[in-house]
Amino acid sequence: MNLLVVGSVAYDTVETPEGANKQQLGGSATYFSLASSYFTQVGVVAVVGNDFARSDLGLLGKHGIDTTGLETTSGKTFRWAGRYSEDLNTAVTLETHLNVFEHFKPALTPAHKRAPYLFLANISPDLQHAVLDQMAPRPALVACDSMNLWIEIARPRLLELVAKVDVLMINEAEAKQLSGERSLVGAAKQLRKLGLKALVVKRGEYGAVVFHRDFTFAAPAYPLARVVDPTGAGDSFAGGFMGYLAAVGDTGPEAMRRAAVAGSVMASFTVERFGVERLEGLNLEEINSRFSAFVELTRFHPLGGGQGLPLIARPV
Ligand code: AMP
Repeated sequence: MNLLVVGSVAYDTVETPEGANKQQLGGSATYFSLASSYFTQVGVVAVVGNDFARSDLGLLGKHGIDTTGLETTSGKTFRWAGRYSEDLNTAVTLETHLNVFEHFKPALTPAHKRAPYLFLANISPDLQHAVLDQMAPRPALVACDSMNLWIEIARPRLLELVAKVDVLMINEAEAKQLSGERSLVGAAKQLRKLGLKALVVKRGEYGAVVFHRDFTFAAPAYPLARVVDPTGAGDSFAGGFMGYLAAVGDTGPEAMRRAAVAGSVMASFTVERFGVERLEGLNLEEINSRFSAFVELTRFHPLGGGQGLPLIARPV
């Protein structure tokens, strides 16, 4: 097991300017594991109710995802309902029902405990701690996500968690909300003081920025003519990011830059259709050809001789 994720497995009801869809398979761990499954062997730690469809379990299995940590218990699967703004950049939560997650106590298998890469996807900070505390030895890289709900109702526990992880991946509004800063650079400085190696800020259609201790790197979002459903974009980004790092077994600066592009590649597929419809069953050529499109999107040659811009020197 190379990469482990704990997070939600859910049925989502979403409304976007492109339409509405009820009870679609979703959840932070679902998007994350599907996106990362194209890169490496990933295991999911989560719980579902006895209403969870066999076909959905089959879908995870088809992607080679290890579901031995996906417990089924009596009760209902986690449910989330949300509505997106006209510009698709913000989601308003209409309903959250933790259901079976309320009493979930994850018990990791020996193979899960030894995973070298760990992603604590969006779920209650108590659960994120419960998984991290069982890992032995400590993974090479631990990253986590969260959201406004947990910042509001479990802030101290979340800050305690941030102090224990290497990378925090959250969206722009959450980074500002958690740090109390108005700018992203300020937020990164504040949050890194807690011990983070890097803050990765997801900015929807504006891409993502890695504020690493040693460098800052910005990856654009793929310019799409039509975004159907942004649900899961953040988790798919994280799946591409962590999946890539776990696949190459490297957490150095160059790998992190490439990981941010791999994350943007995976997120760009997710938003093209409702739910996981586009993310499932991708072929490797289409993933690689989108990666090449990112290379082209960000390619430029430094000016002749690498001397910088042709500026006119004037006395001031
Ligand atoms: P994102 O990648 O940020 O768009 O995440 C969307 C996913 O997060 C949806 O599929 C939801 O099921 C899930 N989600 C929403 N609220 C929560 C929550 N409070 N805890 C865990 N997962 C959630």
